[in-house]
Amino acid sequence: MLWWGAAHSLHPDPERGRLRVCVLDVGQGDCIVVETPSGRTMVIDGGGVNDETRPSDGADVGSRVVAPYLYARGINRVDVLVLTHPHGDHVGGLLSVLREEPIGTVLDGTVLPYPTPAYQAFLAGVKSRHLSYKHVFRGMHLDLGDGVTADVLNPPASGTPYGENPDNSTVNNYSVVLRLTYGRTHFLLMGDAEAAAEQVLLNSSSDLTADVLKTGHHGAANASGEALLARVHPRYAAISCGRHNHFGHPAPATLARLTTHGIQTFRTDQNGAVTFLSDGQTVEATPFISSVPLAAGLR
Ligand SMILES: [Zn+2]
Repeated sequence: MLWWGAAHSLHPDPERGRLRVCVLDVGQGDCIVVETPSGRTMVIDGGGVNDETRPSDGADVGSRVVAPYLYARGINRVDVLVLTHPHGDHVGGLLSVLREEPIGTVLDGTVLPYPTPAYQAFLAGVKSRHLSYKHVFRGMHLDLGDGVTADVLNPPASGTPYGENPDNSTVNNYSVVLRLTYGRTHFLLMGDAEAAAEQVLLNSSSDLTADVLKTGHHGAANASGEALLARVHPRYAAISCGRHNHFGHPAPATLARLTTHGIQTFRTDQNGAVTFLSDGQTVEATPFISSVPLAAGLR
């Protein structure tokens, strides 16, 4: 009874004034939902399937996970929708978001021509709704209000430094990389960027430091290299990957590097969705499933 009364007295919302960044559990894929203190919303990728011959999965993760999450959070408008790159495990789930949510602006990081059914369906959805649509590249600065900003660090503003052959690795390297800032706290969201993109970031004079690193390419061995971890110096890392995925993500070598750097790491395949809350000074991490057994936590 006392607890119930105490809970009531906690109103208004204890999350008020905080930036909320949730790395959703969309299986083998990526989806991040950002909510600013006053409720502006940015959705980065939507999960999906790697089979790009189909515009959408039969058990579409967008309508099964992403849309219900937005509904549960009371989100009835997506101000900024970002597609980091056109692979099926990032674009597929955005189709239902495009269908069901009012959307402000769509930002697309796709650099090379990519004529797959999933990506073409995404472009068709944007066009049929007459949404504001822009290609996004390094140097762009987004103001989300409340002092929340995002700097685009990749893909490069000009040229094709990662090549022009749209194989998996090349397309991954052109991923949108965002550095989100709120007060003194930062989030570095790497998309599926791999070593080549990391090297371009490291060669730049950009401030890469962040409290939270959303690791590139689902924790693969060819991302989150030593030099990047040293420069970003995060307290937390989030790896978005599916249980028993066929790719072996995350790679043991990547997990070892994160451990060596003393980074507390959450994995969506083990922890479910991971929520980060920032008050502008510090970041708190809350995994949906804690790695600490409940019984131990109650002791
Ligand atoms: Zn991916």
